[in-house]
Amino acid sequence: MKPIGILGGTFDPIHYGHLRLAEEMLELAGLQQIRFFPAGNPPHRVCPQVSAADRSAMVQLAIADHAAFVLDEREVLRNTKSFTVHTLRELRAELGEEQPLCLLMGGDAFLQLHTWHEWESLLGLAHVVVGYRPGYTLEERIHQAPARLREHYLERLCSVDYLSQHAAGGIAELAIPKLEISATLIRSRVAEKRTIRYLLPPSVANYIYQHNLYVPC
Ligand code: ATP
Repeated sequence: MKPIGILGGTFDPIHYGHLRLAEEMLELAGLQQIRFFPAGNPPHRVCPQVSAADRSAMVQLAIADHAAFVLDEREVLRNTKSFTVHTLRELRAELGEEQPLCLLMGGDAFLQLHTWHEWESLLGLAHVVVGYRPGYTLEERIHQAPARLREHYLERLCSVDYLSQHAAGGIAELAIPKLEISATLIRSRVAEKRTIRYLLPPSVANYIYQHNLYVPC
């Protein structure tokens, strides 16, 4: 069964770094679909500068023309903090025990996985698929992670084929060129009235200007 990919993020705003990561993972991991989950009230960082509704609207604009990309707003609609483990439990209940699920993330995010709420439960609910820069593998950096995360990594490292043959539990690495784009970069460029062209889809850039987002008070 082809896995469903799950890409959570603040998406404040969504940009081509996220979209290329998703597109490469769709292809390399043989996913049937990627669901984008804008975080409602991110536990890991200071409040987003714009509302969850705006961040969600920008994701919808960015993925509108991609048949395999889907916006899932459940985290922005929740009134409580967004924890990935809760979202995965809901998806499991909806999609059944057989459907492979792949939690998608960059290498930096993976090395912080142990800080996520109930992080070890995540591995029973989904595979984790990590994008790493070619020539800069996770294997070389895993010593930076705490022992328990290292153990999981070494025990669960799997092939792409494993992802479709099992519902959860593997950790796969995919070499994905990382674009030097971040939401932080885009926010600061807008605040400084500098160009953001070619860093994100034009529809998202237009939304930012029309709604006066990221402009200092
Ligand atoms: P910020 O700059 O506000 O911290 P961000 O651009 O890193 O934000 P997030 O919404 O925090 O974006 O990221 C969501 C996911 O996308 C994370 O798993 C992160 O590793 C990944 N990601 C972000 N930017 C890139 C990029 N340029 N290339 C590949 N993956 C990325």
